[in-house]
Amino acid sequence: MAKRIANVIVDSPIREPLDYLVPADIEIQVGQRCLVPLGTRKVFGIVVGFSEESRFSKLREVISRVDDIAPLSFGWLALTSFAARYYQSGWGQVAIPALPKFFRKLPGKLHERSLERLRKEKKRAVKEPSEKPHLNSEQSAIVEEFQMDGAFYPALIFGITGSGKTEVYLHLMEKVLLSDPAAQVLLMVPEINLTPQLVERVQSRFPQLEVVSWNSGMAEGQKASSWLACHEGRARILVGTRLSVFASFKSLKLILVDEEHDPSFKSQEGVRYNARDLALKRASIEKIPIVLGSATPSLESYKNALEGKFKLFKLTQRANSNAHLPELSLVDIRKDKPVNGLSQETADAITETINSGRQVIVFLNRRGFAPVVECKNCGWQSTCPHCSTYAVFHKTTGRLTCHYCGWSTPLPKTCPKCGSYELLPIGRGTQRAEEELETRWPEARVSRLDQDSARQRGSASKVLDAVHNGDVDILIGTQIVAKGHDFKNVGLVVVLNTDPQLFSSDYRARERLFSVLMQVSGRAGRDKTEGKVLIQTRYTEDDIFKHLKSQDYEGFAAGELEARRASFMVPFSAQALLVAEGKEISSVLAFLQKLKALAEKIKGPSVQIFEPVPLTVQKVMDIERGQLLIEADNKVEMQKFLNRFQPEALSLKAKGSWYIDVDPLNY
Ligand code: ADP
Ligand code: ZN
Ligand code: ZN
Repeated sequence: MAKRIANVIVDSPIREPLDYLVPADIEIQVGQRCLVPLGTRKVFGIVVGFSEESRFSKLREVISRVDDIAPLSFGWLALTSFAARYYQSGWGQVAIPALPKFFRKLPGKLHERSLERLRKEKKRAVKEPSEKPHLNSEQSAIVEEFQMDGAFYPALIFGITGSGKTEVYLHLMEKVLLSDPAAQVLLMVPEINLTPQLVERVQSRFPQLEVVSWNSGMAEGQKASSWLACHEGRARILVGTRLSVFASFKSLKLILVDEEHDPSFKSQEGVRYNARDLALKRASIEKIPIVLGSATPSLESYKNALEGKFKLFKLTQRANSNAHLPELSLVDIRKDKPVNGLSQETADAITETINSGRQVIVFLNRRGFAPVVECKNCGWQSTCPHCSTYAVFHKTTGRLTCHYCGWSTPLPKTCPKCGSYELLPIGRGTQRAEEELETRWPEARVSRLDQDSARQRGSASKVLDAVHNGDVDILIGTQIVAKGHDFKNVGLVVVLNTDPQLFSSDYRARERLFSVLMQVSGRAGRDKTEGKVLIQTRYTEDDIFKHLKSQDYEGFAAGELEARRASFMVPFSAQALLVAEGKEISSVLAFLQKLKALAEKIKGPSVQIFEPVPLTVQKVMDIERGQLLIEADNKVEMQKFLNRFQPEALSLKAKGSWYIDVDPLNY
């Protein structure tokens, strides 16, 4: 009789599953976890299949199986397998880190008791569901038309800020959850948007159901308990960030991806997956509907919708009938020269807004006091000794700090090079703007919200609460102030210094700038009184502002798509980056030349290989980095190429530390 051979994946870059004999006394199923020998170690694995024969002659035996929970589903295995192939990594490298730590180790003595504790249902006060607003006609059209009949159904909800997208999500969830007592829903959000307020909003709408959340900041115990509740079907709703695309469900029936354009859905470490794209794949594997939502969809998704690959729904009105669209104007800083960062028109508008008892938001996407300190005498500049970047001056700590590696040193009293006392902060960050605002409006209550001020636990929500309660007159901050907050009394939004992004070498910079400016503008005029937005710029004639003024995402997107089509850019082509790292940039680039030579040999006419170049930020933490850009006519051609290239590149004699980034977002 043929021997039973288990195909097992382990956390390693090996592409194919490993083969192990199953001893007669072990009953094991596909999707169950197990312990197997690998070299001299015992490692954790997942059984993904069985075979009668093996490519290998000498097989070792499975040591033991772990049967504490139901096996992982075929859908889950198919998803992780796809992700591994698409992003050019080992299956186990995707699948095993996607499990909470608790479920990727061998059960110890107390395992059963810990499991019991994890399974304990949270006590929920049985409450009435929170009141739901009567949907407007655009909203209810979506809920009615939306198809949930056991088929893959991708939809894009393009709705301006405050148009009631979240409300539509809640109604779609309700439709799914009430029609099937086992149905589960996954709501994915960017890390920065996963606030306790959002989870609360979902839970209070469905007080009778278990709602769990998942993000990278949670304690291991909490993660394990959320994961298990989804795996065993108790939790009906999971609200989670990027990694939750790999959560295990018993009966997943709907996926929603809010702010689908957000770059944080793309992982920038380990396996560089895009959770939005994998969510689409997951929905197609599970044959369920998926909703992508945004006020400024990614051009990739918008193009798919225009071409009919996604069903396109639009929300064109603010849902709250009291709310107004903000009136946007530009301050030409060539004429109205800023003094300490603020033009006269801006300053007057701030005064007027405060005097009328309304709030001001000042948006400046740069934290710290000054991005660099310079010696007036000899030109010395504060750079990081470990990175090819400036060390940013933070006045709150009195230190120079590198935002890439965290290196930090007290601000020197004199120039380290020439001894001069004339050290000048150059440029402006949020701390400096805060100081300026406090000086000019001494009676106003000024608060700052950025990564530095938000670092202490709970302090961000304290500031946000203060804004909601009217205890803040001026809020200055980075991107964090732009995200989804439903402030009721903001009369003015001021945007400082976004000009550099108009001319970035990154071809997505304009798309991102448009998105951020739309979001931050959306904070004004959310209730009753009108809101105003002032943007200080020296490029008043740029098209981007024309479209912003009329809140015309579609016009903007049409222009950008045309430009991308003309220059054969994504989404009209596909990209992958080979990134290499090392001690010397010369050897990094030399290694990339070897990869390039191999790629040139393998590639067909639909693939183009560029020259190796250093990364924009070449050195981080003393590691030099270079990249090789590959372009293909489309994703299918790219996959064909990478699938041939990757194994050969791995077997190259030349040594080098490198990785592949498929569909990169950063260069
Ligand atoms: P978005 O997610 O598009 O920013 P939300 O769903 O958060 O929008 O809605 C914005 C505001 O409008 C919220 O205060 C919400 O309660 C309210 N709202 C949403 N839909 C309606 C509606 N149909 N009628 C009245 N208010 C609504
Ligand atoms: Zn000097
Ligand atoms: Zn550094």
